[in-house]
Amino acid sequence: MGRIETVWVGRGGQGIVTATYIIANAAIIDGYYAIANPEFGAERRGAPVKAFLTISDAPIEDQEPIKMPDVAIVFDDKLIDLMRFVLDAVRPGGYIIINSGKPPEEVKKIVSRDDVYIVVLDAIDIARRHVKLDVPNGPLAGAFSKVMGLPKLESIRQAFENQLGKAVEENFAATKEAFETATVIPPARVDPSARPKGVISTTSAFLAGPYEIVEWTAVNKGGVVFPGTSLHYRTGGWRIEKPVIDHAKCIMCRKCWLYCPDDAVIEAWREVEGPRGRKFRMKAIEFDYDFCKGCSVCAEVCPTGAIQMVREI
Ligand code: SF4
Ligand code: SF4
Repeated sequence: MGRIETVWVGRGGQGIVTATYIIANAAIIDGYYAIANPEFGAERRGAPVKAFLTISDAPIEDQEPIKMPDVAIVFDDKLIDLMRFVLDAVRPGGYIIINSGKPPEEVKKIVSRDDVYIVVLDAIDIARRHVKLDVPNGPLAGAFSKVMGLPKLESIRQAFENQLGKAVEENFAATKEAFETATVIPPARVDPSARPKGVISTTSAFLAGPYEIVEWTAVNKGGVVFPGTSLHYRTGGWRIEKPVIDHAKCIMCRKCWLYCPDDAVIEAWREVEGPRGRKFRMKAIEFDYDFCKGCSVCAEVCPTGAIQMVREI
């Protein structure tokens, strides 16, 4: 088998790190060597997270971040643009496994590579049905086992026992369904001697954004770093679900505004029609979807049930 290098990308709270530990644990049960290293940016639920996992039939002596993976696993299709530098770095003939509710051919177009296997599964839907949580790691582990031929399903089940110690059968049912149903689109062409379009570097994540990279040595001693940069960091891309309001139920108590951790509940003028057909404008609650990260706190605190969370991916 040699060595398989993988990169797992998703959001804090989706179980990325747990997924790599489970696959590493299961691979070790199967008699391989494995090492899993997570890499965090902002340690917040919903923030993009990257984790590296290497499996080998020989001892693994290095712990370097992986630059050109054989497999990339994407926990959320809305991360494709943000994490395109990871997808571009997958070796020709490698695998990109994506959690998406979109049709597989549409996902292939978005990924925009025809020299790798694209594996698509609706891991959120599978996880919701079996585990009753939006945590797609079990199904993605199943898709990984299907296309890589390891670890064995039974070893993944054992790893759930070791790593989670609870909800083992539910997680295993989700893993098994993904193993059986994930769609695999083969590459149109593979030149095994070709190199991928890019490599994963430590600054890749920042280069994907609209920023100019300034080395620390270029900052003057005692220089001032200006506030307000969070305005450039659009956390709306973190969402799995978005809040939608039913204005007829809203009593404008503003509890949602008070509790929103991202200042994403806003008031906007809205045109409404009165009982006699007269139109007038009134203030109403809306959401700033550029910054709403879909935490659902607003829906939880709303006393009238005016806010519903609606799935986006
Ligand atoms: S889901 Fe609601 S509370 Fe959470 S960030 Fe969005 S608007 Fe704010
Ligand atoms: S918490 Fe509910 S009722 Fe209160 S302002 Fe927000 S949406 Fe309206």
